[in-house]
Amino acid sequence: PAQVADLLERTPRSSFIGGRFLGGTPDLDVQDPATGGTLTQVVDADAASIGEKALDAAVAAQADWAATLPRERSEILRRAYELCHERADDLAALMTLEMGKPLDEAYGEVTYGAEFLRWFSEEAVRLPGRFRQAPAAEQAILTTSRPVGPVLAITPWNFPLSMGTRKIAPALAAGCTVVLKPAELTPLTSLAFCQILADAGLPAGVVNAVVTSDAGTLSSTLMADARLRKVSFTGSTPVGRTLLAQASEHVLRTSMELGGNAPFLVLPSADMDTAIDAAMPAKFRNNGEACTAANRFYVHSSVAEEFTRHLVEKTEELQVGAGIDEGTTMGPMIEPKALDKIEELVADAVERGAKVLTGGRRPRADELPEGCAEGFFYLPTVLGDVPADARVNREEIFGPVAPVIVMDDVEDMVRAANDTEFGLMSYAVGADLAEVTDVAGRIESGMVAVNLGVASDAAAPFGGVKESGLGREGSHEGIAEYLETTYVRLPL
Ligand code: ADP
Repeated sequence: PAQVADLLERTPRSSFIGGRFLGGTPDLDVQDPATGGTLTQVVDADAASIGEKALDAAVAAQADWAATLPRERSEILRRAYELCHERADDLAALMTLEMGKPLDEAYGEVTYGAEFLRWFSEEAVRLPGRFRQAPAAEQAILTTSRPVGPVLAITPWNFPLSMGTRKIAPALAAGCTVVLKPAELTPLTSLAFCQILADAGLPAGVVNAVVTSDAGTLSSTLMADARLRKVSFTGSTPVGRTLLAQASEHVLRTSMELGGNAPFLVLPSADMDTAIDAAMPAKFRNNGEACTAANRFYVHSSVAEEFTRHLVEKTEELQVGAGIDEGTTMGPMIEPKALDKIEELVADAVERGAKVLTGGRRPRADELPEGCAEGFFYLPTVLGDVPADARVNREEIFGPVAPVIVMDDVEDMVRAANDTEFGLMSYAVGADLAEVTDVAGRIESGMVAVNLGVASDAAAPFGGVKESGLGREGSHEGIAEYLETTYVRLPL
């Protein structure tokens, strides 16, 4: 507790504009989902006026930042990468405290989040350009890339560090300035990260962060201002739709990472250890609160009994508790509203005939570790005999519930997997490589993990098809989202 108090004392608690943290009276509660109590308070910025100040700062810094040498931008990103590792203890603890994930997983996110800084420090010095002779003239086609300009980056609460670095690192590498709007539920990690950017030598105004409970006003104010040139958003599909509509006014570039409804296919040839080793992180990592989380398990009838039995066993081994406590492998949900949604989805499935094989409710106090407060906990759950029309098949659960749907035919599994408006992540497990790669290739999603439960990598393009989003983050594609192509024609 003394260490936690000291950490919270050291962490900035107000918006970061033009290279400094603003003053003000902290008045917006940051909750600790493991206790349901208030962790600390941050200053709730007036969305319109502070948002405009943040954009002013980003616009003022844009030309100079775009003109810095790529090597210099690269070195700043590299220093920020190193500082994330040096401050891993603080960043991990902040994430666990404000978001609830187990501390080990928070350390994992520090590594993953920092990796975007390292990857894009390496991409910054490899900006694309090319030279061609025109096919039918003694003339040259020269293409270069330029930063798109000031970016509004809106991030969710489930990965408080990496959702920010995944946008900010490529933006900075490309030469763009940024206004970050971190999720109001988890502002502390983002503010600690702003301190890292400042300490890494990032010039004032290049990245600004507005902490506000009024996201709608902030985004509509900034998007009505023609100086903003891009919006990059990670969050729910309904909010993404609103932002896309608003982006049309000034024809903004957009990148959207929206909702998912990941199918997890267990094929007849699946090796059971492989299937379970993939299923557990695919479902339960990050408390089940990931847009890539397996949402529906389609299991072939020939392996269904064995798979389900092992899944239940492993699920019952998960240790529910406060993320900060040693041994916890399943933390609390982010807020009571999230718990309500999970309960509703489970109740709906049960009403339609599903069986609760384990979990299926909030834990009783005596099921939590000693000394654990009654936070927003839900027991890790497996549902069997889930009918096709259950809401869990259509809606993102965002919690530790694994619905198992048994099917007799692989083609039906593929059809069911694709019967959704989403297409972010999917999983396929099978030892018959020809079959599993064929199936993986026919699932309509931006990403597929084969015989694995986690696929995220700064070096790989992350993103969805259909209503799961537009654009890609990470890899080479990630920096292209922040660049415009310019074409110059010259006589030869
Ligand atoms: P989640 O279910 O992950 O909370 P949201 O889409 O509600 O998904 O939130 C993701 C981010 O979008 C958060 O930073 C939130 O503050 C922000 N947000 C919510 N509503 C709006 C809006 N109308 N305009 C812009 N950003 C919004």
